[in-house]
Amino acid sequence: MYGKIKAHLQKELAEIQQNGLYKSERIISSPQNAVITLSDGSEVINFCANNYLGMSDHPELIKAAHDGLAQRGLGMSSVRFICGTQDIHKTLERKIAEFFGTEDTILYAACFDANGGVFEPLFGEEDAIISDSLNHASIIDGVRLCKAARYRYANADMTDLEKQLQAAQHHRFRIIATDGVFSMDGNVAPMDKIVALAEKYDALVMVDECHSAGVVGQSGRGVTELHNIRGQVDIITGTLGKAFGGAVGGFTTGRKEIIDLLRQRSRPYLFSNSLPPAVVTAGIRMFEMIEQSNEWQEQLHQNTAYFVEQMTQAGFDLKSTKSSICAVMLYDAKLSQTFAKKLLEEGIYVIGFFYPVVPKDQARIRVQLSAAHNRVHLEKAVAAFVKVGTELGVLI
Ligand SMILES: *Cc1c(COP(=O)(O)O)cnc(C)c1O
Repeated sequence: MYGKIKAHLQKELAEIQQNGLYKSERIISSPQNAVITLSDGSEVINFCANNYLGMSDHPELIKAAHDGLAQRGLGMSSVRFICGTQDIHKTLERKIAEFFGTEDTILYAACFDANGGVFEPLFGEEDAIISDSLNHASIIDGVRLCKAARYRYANADMTDLEKQLQAAQHHRFRIIATDGVFSMDGNVAPMDKIVALAEKYDALVMVDECHSAGVVGQSGRGVTELHNIRGQVDIITGTLGKAFGGAVGGFTTGRKEIIDLLRQRSRPYLFSNSLPPAVVTAGIRMFEMIEQSNEWQEQLHQNTAYFVEQMTQAGFDLKSTKSSICAVMLYDAKLSQTFAKKLLEEGIYVIGFFYPVVPKDQARIRVQLSAAHNRVHLEKAVAAFVKVGTELGVLI
């Protein structure tokens, strides 16, 4: 039986390889941090993790995880509504709601699940979802699982969004769904304008804060802080796997009735295991730490501003960013791969992205800043960019 599909799969894999789209995984033999050790023993400075606040290897969080493991065990062997809810799960949900200024929170195994399970329980055939064209794959999948009518608007394009809202006026309920920060460009969704349009056209707003929570806004409280619209977004989804510690875990936070109904009907919540205690106690500690101090956000903002300033002065073409994602534009696909490879030889780990991950002829290197980077790391990165950029004729 397997023989037939085996040949088919081999052919498909070969095609992926021929098109230069085969993803190989680089093997790391150290914890995630500003400097990591690769399996060949070499050390590189890491600029491609979502470790925005530098928490992936933070001793306080590791201690909190140890405590959770010791006091509440390895895992729950249950979903939440059977016997999978511990006191700590409720504490973390409350902490997340306090951080975002929302009414309640529901935890998921990952934000992929939060987005996968957010639309279907709330909206039906009579309703409409109006989605940004660059939304994350998990939002797209979540929309697919829901029977609501689908509308799409060009990335962060408010004229187009208004047009789609007008077209969707005959539906019972409408919801606008957007990423807070778009991961390939680093641009922030114009949330103030989105909320104003939602008001004008009687729509709800959902924002995925995976790349924005902990990062944007003076105290890292995300796009609602940046745009001064706290409490005006109905649904926020996010992850514990990026700025907030880097382990795993997702959440949806927002209006009380919405969260209540998700607990009753959201399939990835109802039919998937509870978050493990160690992850939960580390999460609680994470939110306590950023409640008490703004030092990590400030460091991140300083690092990002410094890197952008130095790279712009050096003559690189950077997409304008309000997040800690910095796209260094090279346009040419092959150049982006050669450039990243040479940077790795210089001890700088970044990834070059090209079509179909980004639009054709928009190849780039994505740099992700972290509070864990120090000035020396940033200087080395800029120097390496200048060296390779000169060698490859990008800088003249
Ligand atoms: C990373 C990411 C996710 C997925 O988060 P996980 O918790 O890793 O599943 C969802 N949405 C966006 C915008 C992301 O960047």
